Amino acid sequence: MTSTDLKSHSKPKLGQNFLVDPNAMERIVNALGDISQTTVVEIGPGRAALTDLIALRAGRLIAVELDRVLAAQLRMKFTPVKNVEILEADILAVDFATVLGAQPGPLRDLRPTGLLRAHVVGNLPYYITSDILLHLFRFHQRIDFIVVMVQLEVAERIAASPGSSNYGILSATTQMYGSVEQLFTLPPSAFSPPPKVHSAVLRIRIAPRFEELRVPEEDFISFLRGIFAMKRKTLVNNLRDNYPQQAIRNALAKAGLDASIRAEAMSLEQTAALYRALHE
Ligand code: SAM
Repeated sequence: MTSTDLKSHSKPKLGQNFLVDPNAMERIVNALGDISQTTVVEIGPGRAALTDLIALRAGRLIAVELDRVLAAQLRMKFTPVKNVEILEADILAVDFATVLGAQPGPLRDLRPTGLLRAHVVGNLPYYITSDILLHLFRFHQRIDFIVVMVQLEVAERIAASPGSSNYGILSATTQMYGSVEQLFTLPPSAFSPPPKVHSAVLRIRIAPRFEELRVPEEDFISFLRGIFAMKRKTLVNNLRDNYPQQAIRNALAKAGLDASIRAEAMSLEQTAALYRALHE
């Protein structure tokens, strides 16, 4: 069976725009590097455009598909393929610690379960891009690389540098968890049915910066949400709900920042310095 044999009707609500450009399929899977000894988790395998290629190259592939019909078709297709497991599940509900814990085959219960890490890949369902990334970041200890296709504008936001008009909460959060490369873009015609937007492929090498910047993970991520809350407000105005005015001014001075600065203009180093000054 080839990828074109999997033929349920496309469901727009599930972000089902299937990749039909073989060159793009190859480039996305190549972006994972040498995966011969690696566990790969694929988000939304759909009609197996990437799955077929990954199955040939990966040590182990766990493909997570929410669509019941597609998941059943994929399971039938890949039953004879020993390194592939199809999970019918919502990726947002997948606990990577559990899923990566067990190995298939006769050694299932004998392998150490604590340390398995994976590469994650997927042409994401665009309607939940941010939720998926945030979910993956929660499992950063289990993930080395993320290679994902997202809407072009979202890719530009994720990869943006501080001070650029695209820099915001998604850029800052992602860049706290790793380094981002924008690899290439694709036109709507690379998909069937074609989406209304252009797409881009990102590679994120997971390397969290919380220790280096001396900030606690959970609290710093919610601090980022606070300072980016209202895009048109200054940083001081965004902080006012949670900190006394004088504490904010003292902390800005201590971090060497101008009182009129906006969150979008601050590097992660400066943002972390401000956080530390506010929480001393
Ligand atoms: N990988 C295929 C390709 O490249 O042609 C399909 C990509 S399509 C853009 C997104 C896929 O994600 C669809 O197969 C859709 O059913 C699946 N999907 C949507 N929401 C999902 C979720 N919450 N969890 C897992 N898969 C989901």
